[in-house]
Amino acid sequence: MLNSQIATRRDTAISKGVGMQTQIYAARASNSEVWDVEGTRYIDFAAGIAVVNTGHCHPKVVEAVQTQLQAFTHTCHQVLPYENYIHLAERLNDKVPGDFDKKTVFVTTGAEAVENAIKIARAATGRQAVIAFGGAFHGRTFMGMSLTGKVAPYKKGFGGMMPDVFHAPFPIDLHGTSVADAMAGIEKLFKADVDPARVAAIIIEPVQGEGGFYPAPAELMRALRALCDEHGILLIADEIQTGFARTGTLFAMEGYDVVPDLTTMAKGLAGGLPLAAVTGRAEIMDAAQPGGLGGTYGGNPLGIAAAHAVLDVIEEEELCERAAALGEQLKQRLTQIRADVPQMVDVRGPGFMVAAEFNTADGSAPDADFANAVRAEALSRGLILLTCGVYGNVIRFLAPLTIPEDVFAEALDILEASIRAVKGA
Ligand code: PMP
Repeated sequence: MLNSQIATRRDTAISKGVGMQTQIYAARASNSEVWDVEGTRYIDFAAGIAVVNTGHCHPKVVEAVQTQLQAFTHTCHQVLPYENYIHLAERLNDKVPGDFDKKTVFVTTGAEAVENAIKIARAATGRQAVIAFGGAFHGRTFMGMSLTGKVAPYKKGFGGMMPDVFHAPFPIDLHGTSVADAMAGIEKLFKADVDPARVAAIIIEPVQGEGGFYPAPAELMRALRALCDEHGILLIADEIQTGFARTGTLFAMEGYDVVPDLTTMAKGLAGGLPLAAVTGRAEIMDAAQPGGLGGTYGGNPLGIAAAHAVLDVIEEEELCERAAALGEQLKQRLTQIRADVPQMVDVRGPGFMVAAEFNTADGSAPDADFANAVRAEALSRGLILLTCGVYGNVIRFLAPLTIPEDVFAEALDILEASIRAVKGA
């Protein structure tokens, strides 16, 4: 079967609302490599959008899922519970930042984790309003979409957003927005739009993901924590894209000297099986009445089994350290390339959550075309890259943390050749 034949069928069968970065139909995958239906091999610097941090089909993850598959696939934890769900909650309660008693709830997708974090925050505070940031991404459900700080394609045409959701500017030095501007934005919201006594939570990604891989400055996190404490607001860290060793620590919030009250997780948690979680202060997590949280598939046994294996692999293979080392190598290489590519205006990111940002050669405007051309060029040379950013002018690098040295070296050569080819074009 050819990719082009399936692409034609896709056009007929699948809603145009589902976006697409490639027309390469996957046949099999192993660690950091994938093969399509035509037998062409690619190096995967997307990892299913930051999901298979432990590589495609890690043998330990596969084995754990196979064992669970043979025992039972689904009972619904609310009907017939199972021990490994409890044990995974214990492991997350132990590992999620915060030196206090914690509890966890499992759901299925990232958006659902965000929805539930907001429900819990509302139940615990008796307040309604939520503050998020411009450029943020929190999902495609109604609350997730409302919290998301980018209109097209996420909100356009989908009608009214949820009430009582407000956005503050996210500080990005490169774009001329400082931490002081961000905090002034929130103070302005308190003056013009919402009484702080009505705000249940502030939700923030420690590193904005879809929005462009912009790390939240430590000073911002400290200021938000202080503001939350002053007004009785809960701080929610959305670690859905940053989680599970990607940033060089298990959670990105470990890199800050303040802790959130609630943390959302998904993606890297279960190595490709759909599993998501909210973990937070025990008394806050207990605010929802029994039956108010959960779902038929929340904490599905296969996802739970996979997540245990993922946590084991991260520890055994020291993937936090590996993320830091790989990220360093990638940033060094990009910095070298940058010396003669004026379009590359920034190279950044903690651990192996690295991105390069592109502007027009005179530096005056975001250059999404350049970023897209590099992505297409790399794809034609066998390397899968993803773009991101409110202006679409950022390339993010999300290879599995288990990528072998020789494959990584090969990918870096393809990346360099692709950037130079586009620059020279
Ligand atoms: N929050 C963040 C920070 C994300 O990166 C994403 C997914 N890109 C989501 C929420 C939504 O997750 P899902 O697609 O699993 O619903």
